[in-house]
Amino acid sequence: MSRQALDELKQQIRLLEYLQAHDWQPARQLSRGRLMGLCPLHADHKPSFLVDPSKSLFYCYGCGRGGDVIRFAELYHELKFPQAVALLHQWRGLPPLLHETAGFYQMQLHRHTEAVAYLYQRGVRSPELIEHMRIGYAPGGCLRGWLTQLGYPLQALRQAGLVTGAGYDAYTRRIVFPLEGNLYGRSLSVTAPPHRFLPGAKGGLYAWEQVRQSPEVILVEGLFDYAVLWQAGFRNVTCSMGNHLNGRQYRQLCDRPRTVYLAFDAAQTAVASRLRSRLPAGSESKA
Ligand SMILES: [Zn+2]
Repeated sequence: MSRQALDELKQQIRLLEYLQAHDWQPARQLSRGRLMGLCPLHADHKPSFLVDPSKSLFYCYGCGRGGDVIRFAELYHELKFPQAVALLHQWRGLPPLLHETAGFYQMQLHRHTEAVAYLYQRGVRSPELIEHMRIGYAPGGCLRGWLTQLGYPLQALRQAGLVTGAGYDAYTRRIVFPLEGNLYGRSLSVTAPPHRFLPGAKGGLYAWEQVRQSPEVILVEGLFDYAVLWQAGFRNVTCSMGNHLNGRQYRQLCDRPRTVYLAFDAAQTAVASRLRSRLPAGSESKA
């Protein structure tokens, strides 16, 4: 990869944006717009991680490491340089591709009565909810054509996991819900695996930005549980998409004192006790 291509990548992905997407928050501001916060690379107790957003550089006074966004990705994800570059490329390219895909699937929803009937049967009826969650339908056999016509190379679609190695749409006869950096698909067919995600992390908690200010949060495990509660008027709901929470989801729930109500089918007590040990003082987790 040329020097110029690397510079371009660094121009397109600002260090601060990448850090914030990985839940980093500055603890205080220094002169010349520089920021100081806890180091995501070592167990840091007092802020020692310095970020210069204008230069897109970081340095940690605790562990002594520093560099640019590529160096950060290498250290944070424990990758070698070429893999870190590949990961950043994918991270940059995925949002527009997923956005396009979600929009296409949204258009398909009302063209397929079996999809609307399935939603109805699962209790998802309000058009406002369908709009809010950007629910779509993947009939299969048409996404690849649409995206290649828009100019996306087949290789990018394969890399994102939207198209299989054999060249078919990966999501077929599935209700789809766009997530942050991923796409969840619930199968209508009883013979296919019920749940499908794109390769890579499922991401943080669902619609977290909309609930994080709330002192009481209801956590559910499935997006259909979320949908039904939202439709019933609950706005402080979020979803972990499965009964195991990843590190990022735990960090989000525990970033300030709050009460978390768990409404899980299984593994509820395990999650509740893990939360109880991590939530700041004055918080509660109730199964
Ligand atoms: Zn450090």
